[in-house]
Amino acid sequence: MANPNPNPNSSHDPAPAHRGGLDDAPVVHWVQQLLEQAVSLKASDLHFEPYEHHYRVRMRIDGELREMASPPMALKERLASRIKVLSRLDIAEKRLPQDGRMKLLLSSGRELDLRVSTLPTLFGEKLVIRILDSAQAQLDLNRLGYEAADLQRLLQAIRRPHGMVLMTGPTGSGKTQSLYACLNLLNTAELNIATVEDPCEIQLPGINQVNVHGKPGLTFAIALRAFLRQDPDVLMVGEVRDLETANIAIQAAQTGHLVLSTLHTNDAPSTLVRLRNMGTASYNIAASVTLITAQRLLRCLCPKCKESVNLPLATWLQAGLPPGWLAAQSAPAFVPVGCGHCHKGFSGRTGIFQVMPVSLAMQALILQEAGPQTLAEQARREGVGTLRLAGLQKVLQGITSLNEVLAHTQAPELEHDPAQSLAQEIAQGLPLARTPTEAKP
Ligand SMILES: [Zn+2]
Repeated sequence: MANPNPNPNSSHDPAPAHRGGLDDAPVVHWVQQLLEQAVSLKASDLHFEPYEHHYRVRMRIDGELREMASPPMALKERLASRIKVLSRLDIAEKRLPQDGRMKLLLSSGRELDLRVSTLPTLFGEKLVIRILDSAQAQLDLNRLGYEAADLQRLLQAIRRPHGMVLMTGPTGSGKTQSLYACLNLLNTAELNIATVEDPCEIQLPGINQVNVHGKPGLTFAIALRAFLRQDPDVLMVGEVRDLETANIAIQAAQTGHLVLSTLHTNDAPSTLVRLRNMGTASYNIAASVTLITAQRLLRCLCPKCKESVNLPLATWLQAGLPPGWLAAQSAPAFVPVGCGHCHKGFSGRTGIFQVMPVSLAMQALILQEAGPQTLAEQARREGVGTLRLAGLQKVLQGITSLNEVLAHTQAPELEHDPAQSLAQEIAQGLPLARTPTEAKP
């Protein structure tokens, strides 16, 4: 961990290239150290937060914020100034939010892109640094957590020369990584691949990436129309967020291009309803969308300290495991413990996926403007599992804990009926995570 009390008398300054005219060596050194630490811990974001009586620095690692340091209050102005200098923001402007970016040169010689935003809060400027580390992105589809059958369905869809593949889930559910793993697979000398994103988070040589972020006048729709004039094979649209984008993407998918994109929906079947509610014609949805995935990221249990518990069959059934999956009256699951190799018993994350091909029967239902329930039932009949089921499979495999699955997925019967609170009742009957004990070697 970076020293939380930068010594004002320290003569250390490893980053003269980034001094930017601020004569504040200890702070410069400390910020560099902290950024390097964040990268080595694979943090996605760093938060610098001033409060009335204290100041803290937190990092988001594996989707969770962790407090990493509490530098002295007296340093808050200098820390903010240092970060604003690095990202070429106006140091004097403290009353309005600002948005910038910076390059970080790591001591290993590697260079990273960081996005910086400021927010004037009651007790000073809060700064958040987003780390965009292409080298850390896992671009091997086989290592994202897809079950074998789901991966085959996905591969089938992206190997077709046309059609639309949609990846859905909330922010931070790993959609971008999945999209890029697909593009990585398709990235050959034979295909012209282009992306339009807001912003580009992962850089991939061989792909023509357009960043619309912070470029007034350049929209997804304008960039997409331009691609279509550039002899494209594969298009990736960062997000289908309006009718115009949806219509151009759908038209491209129907005219011999493979289109990949994302949507913010809860599950695969309801994505079809969302597209319709945006104003897209049902016959266009039915004719273009070939596959929809929904996904979440779950924390993986630390293999060095996880402990086995025996869960009775009733618990598994209550959690949503289909009857017949377990032959015995109980099955082992693992719970987090905590050791020197992990954070509270967890280390790293895995994806869980619902992968739904749009079958002929599904197309017929789309044309009939069927509701989410009917579409979900059809998907189930065709062997498409739910996110809950995908999570339970990871529990049976010993990869994650049951509580982690219950916290991040809805019980299948509740997916379209959020009024009930069965999930909570189920959670109460479970063995709780043990409190972290002494660090094991
Ligand atoms: Zn551990």
